[in-house]
Amino acid sequence: MKLDVETMQYLEPEDYRCLTAIEQGMKNHEWVPMPLIERIADIRRGGVSKIVNDLLRRKLVQHIGGRNDGYHLTYEGYDYLALHAFYKRGKLTGLGSKLGVGKEADIYMAQDADGNHLVVKFQRLGRTSFRAVKNKRDYHGNRKSPNWLYLSRLAALKEFAYMKVLYDNGFPTPTPVDVNRHAVVMSQVDGFNMNTIANMAHPEMVYDGLMALIVRMAQHGVVHGDFNEFNLLIGQDEKITMIDFPQMLAIDHKEAREYFERDVGCIQIVFKRKFGFESTKPAPQFDEVTEAIVMKDLAIRKEIRRSGITDKISEMVSKAVREDEAEGGDEEDSAVNNSD
Ligand code: ADP
Ligand code: MG
Repeated sequence: MKLDVETMQYLEPEDYRCLTAIEQGMKNHEWVPMPLIERIADIRRGGVSKIVNDLLRRKLVQHIGGRNDGYHLTYEGYDYLALHAFYKRGKLTGLGSKLGVGKEADIYMAQDADGNHLVVKFQRLGRTSFRAVKNKRDYHGNRKSPNWLYLSRLAALKEFAYMKVLYDNGFPTPTPVDVNRHAVVMSQVDGFNMNTIANMAHPEMVYDGLMALIVRMAQHGVVHGDFNEFNLLIGQDEKITMIDFPQMLAIDHKEAREYFERDVGCIQIVFKRKFGFESTKPAPQFDEVTEAIVMKDLAIRKEIRRSGITDKISEMVSKAVREDEAEGGDEEDSAVNNSD
């Protein structure tokens, strides 16, 4: 669906009260019953059902009848709650068109009051699984589906936390602006995805820069884990900016070596295949880089934990992101064929 500022202006404070009430109810209910929405929203009697029906018509909530009769937010409803928070905090004044559809996220252009170019990244974890569950209802039976809104919120929180510490430590990331629910606001990077670039004037310089980034991240105690040409933007003078952080992991994670090596390998392969460049220097080695690291001294890790991303949450998000990626593939077709 199209997210637009007009619809946002069209939403009344009472609409937000009802959306928020459903959001709160969803902490304990997969489908929030009407009496509970009425109680939480605390709006004059009879008013709530009219509002909720209106939200339903605009596809900001979903309804299920029968035994579990109730409502829950759609991703679009959740989007409006996050946007509303950004507007209220003065972080955004306008939302533009969609910039990209990643596998787990939708990216929109936006602006702040000073006319700075921003983007809003809405996490969409489980978008493919939502469809999959729908299609495989029998197979899934009555099992409670995972709370995707909750996971997407944690993914945004994790992405923001990593982006902020990387940025504060001088790494080339977008400027982190704000996070709310499943949405992150950041500066819009002036550049092109590396996967769309056919020719590079100085491949060796860019290659060395990328390897140096992988090494420096490791020295700070973290591994990107998805360091590929889709998550690297190349700007003027071949300036590199890295994006997409929900799957990042700590250097003492049991899979850190695997992802470190994969990140290094991705860069080697893409430079060889696309730009015909092979470095004569040895590739960074995990053991060499990590040898000198004293884990407990790593400031970035402490900072990440302070922002509420425990190792457990971090792992949960990485797992959800990776499962989502694996789910992708041919779901698109099956969703079209079996949609109900
Ligand atoms: P996903 O997790 O879905 O891959 P990404 O963070 O990689 O999401 O974003 C998807 C695409 O959106 C990127 O490949 C890039 O083209 C674009 N994009 C994301 N963030 C920015 C940004 N800050 N500036 C410019 N383009 C961006
Ligand atoms: Mg990406």
